[in-house]
Amino acid sequence: MDILQTDIKHITGLGPKWRTLFMEDMDISTFDDLLQLYPYRYVDRSRIYQIRDITNDMPYVQLCGRFISLQTIGTGRQQRMSAMFTDGTGQIEIVWFKGLNYVQQQVNYNDEFMLFGKPSAFNGRYNIVHPELERADRAQIAAGTLQPVYNTSEKMKKAGLNSKAIQKLMNQLFNVQLQASVNDTLSYRILQEYHLVNRSTALRILHFPKDHREIEKAVFRMKFEELFFIQLGILRNRNINKHKQGGIQFSQAGSLLSDFYAHHIPFEPTNAQKRVVHEIWNDMCSGHQMNRLIQGDVGSGKTLVALMAMLIAVGNKLQACMMAPTEILATQHYEGLSSFVKDMPVRIELLTGSTKKKDRTRILADLANGEIDILVGTHALLEDTVVYAHLGLAIVDEQHRFGVQQRAKLWSKGIVPPHILVMTATPIPRTLAMTVYGDLDVSIIDELPPGRKPVRTEHYFHNKRNNLNAFLRQQLQLGRQIYVVYPLIEESESLDYKNLTEGFEYMKDAFKEYNVCMVHGKMKPDEKDAAMQSFASGQSHIMVATTVIEVGVNVPNASVMIIESAERFGLSQLHQLRGRVGRGADQSYCILMTSVELANDTRQRMQIMVDTTDGFRIAEADLQLRGPGNIDGTQQSGLPFALHIADLAKDAKLVQYTREIAEKVLADDPYLQSPDNQGMAQRLNQLKNSSINWSVIS
Ligand code: ADP
Ligand code: MG
Repeated sequence: MDILQTDIKHITGLGPKWRTLFMEDMDISTFDDLLQLYPYRYVDRSRIYQIRDITNDMPYVQLCGRFISLQTIGTGRQQRMSAMFTDGTGQIEIVWFKGLNYVQQQVNYNDEFMLFGKPSAFNGRYNIVHPELERADRAQIAAGTLQPVYNTSEKMKKAGLNSKAIQKLMNQLFNVQLQASVNDTLSYRILQEYHLVNRSTALRILHFPKDHREIEKAVFRMKFEELFFIQLGILRNRNINKHKQGGIQFSQAGSLLSDFYAHHIPFEPTNAQKRVVHEIWNDMCSGHQMNRLIQGDVGSGKTLVALMAMLIAVGNKLQACMMAPTEILATQHYEGLSSFVKDMPVRIELLTGSTKKKDRTRILADLANGEIDILVGTHALLEDTVVYAHLGLAIVDEQHRFGVQQRAKLWSKGIVPPHILVMTATPIPRTLAMTVYGDLDVSIIDELPPGRKPVRTEHYFHNKRNNLNAFLRQQLQLGRQIYVVYPLIEESESLDYKNLTEGFEYMKDAFKEYNVCMVHGKMKPDEKDAAMQSFASGQSHIMVATTVIEVGVNVPNASVMIIESAERFGLSQLHQLRGRVGRGADQSYCILMTSVELANDTRQRMQIMVDTTDGFRIAEADLQLRGPGNIDGTQQSGLPFALHIADLAKDAKLVQYTREIAEKVLADDPYLQSPDNQGMAQRLNQLKNSSINWSVIS
């Protein structure tokens, strides 16, 4: 067994209490895990600033001196402690709001202290709030080493397991117990070819560094390792799946597609649509099962691509199905697809939870005897009673509402697994798609049909709401319709519903001569449908709703989308909502309504929405602002294993780079069987066993 897989309890000085804390708060249980607890910062203990030199633009300073006063100010929740600290060149105020007992114990007037913190100006004077504090160690200052600082939880600190303690454990483990003998996880060849520091050296540098230049090299090496193994794992699995999963091999595009293309298609496909259909066609001819993701912004025409793919399947005497996340969306797909092929010999049916028993029985029977060519529906398609005569293609629309397991369920609907096409309107940056949807090939529809006018977006403060009404009235007089969307989250549900109903009353009052309808999740399904229907048919002019309208509704006549409390939505959700307008020929508008006081990043988010309608740019910005874990629709997908040092947003280039290298490795050795690659194969298995929790990947 690899010594690095040893339980951390075997580290001298690490008792059961700390072990539990490590496991619970940091998910660390082996030597290897601990070594991958990287310092988040290094303090240059040789660099000491003087108080008189402090300026406004210093991010962090280290000071060495003594306390000359300490007092408690205020009472109760307002209570804080203030101390004066001097180093002979000046004085600076130090302030604490928390942990006052601890401060009281630590601070004295006799010892020399080192302080580390960020100075800020207050009333024309500098102070430091909550600095790191420790007794000065002259020997260490003289030695001038970089001191690693480790992240710890409050609980850990309370139990004495602070950064200093971790430093000691690290030393005990690495320099005493392991004596730095850490095997490499990367092959010798890769180390050589890409000029990487070996693992043992990199870990030594990260935990016991000499200077910043060597840290950079070590960081690169460990980031490389993390990202490389993610890509290697994904790509190897794909090789294995492709090998295992034969697929239905299509030999012809079929007469249906050519008939459709020649006589029935209502418009010329965009180049992007053509390219994607071609990519799908190539997959279908390959003899392997297709697993392809189509990313295309709202309105980019994914439905047409889906239809053409289905016509290929049907033209090859096979059946196709298309699954959507909501009943409304499934119905719209059914209607849209039916009208595309209304003069063609293609039979389409719709199956949802509310299909009448009689119809359901008939549909299921006709499906099983092969008389139905295309079945459109909701989750109902996954039920065991749904049996196909010969399913050749399964399409899932709006991927982020479904998961890996549901896709897998679709596979089982044929003896030879059907080809799978997944469509999403959530643009995901390439680097992220490469990792999150690693098991899928990705096609991108990056072009909108001609003649679309980009939605014009404006940011409005809610206290100026009345100024908007003249404009809204003008739109209504032109015969357009308006959406007003309110956020709704569980935690503040009752307040959110109150805002929604107040908004409904406000609009009814402000636009008395128009019909206003309201839609939200608490309504009975038939009430909800009726309200949606009244808006879709144009009977209602204004729809006040929660985000239930995010997916689905297609009302080309709606030209205004007002998003209330827009600050509470993420970028990609705002983009999705905005996609509900701009579907017709008219100029459309999106109004982002927020409160006046906004945090900086919220302001940035609104500005991005105002500046661009490009979903990919928005997704990139989202990734930058929020980090990969929070991108809508991907948080549940998760990564195959946790990243400790690399960052998908910041290290996008390295993601691409390691991807290419992993591809090269696997091109020579698809299943990692060569002796050279044994170490990497082993590492992959270790990582796989360690932290994938399939149950959370939904
Ligand atoms: P989405 O990608 O959001 O699912 P849809 O498939 O609903 O987009 O298409 C949006 C609208 O654009 C539909 O009304 C569709 O008929 C129309 N459309 C699709 N492709 C084209 C095209 N090549 N030229 C013109 N209109 C198109
Ligand atoms: Mg669609």
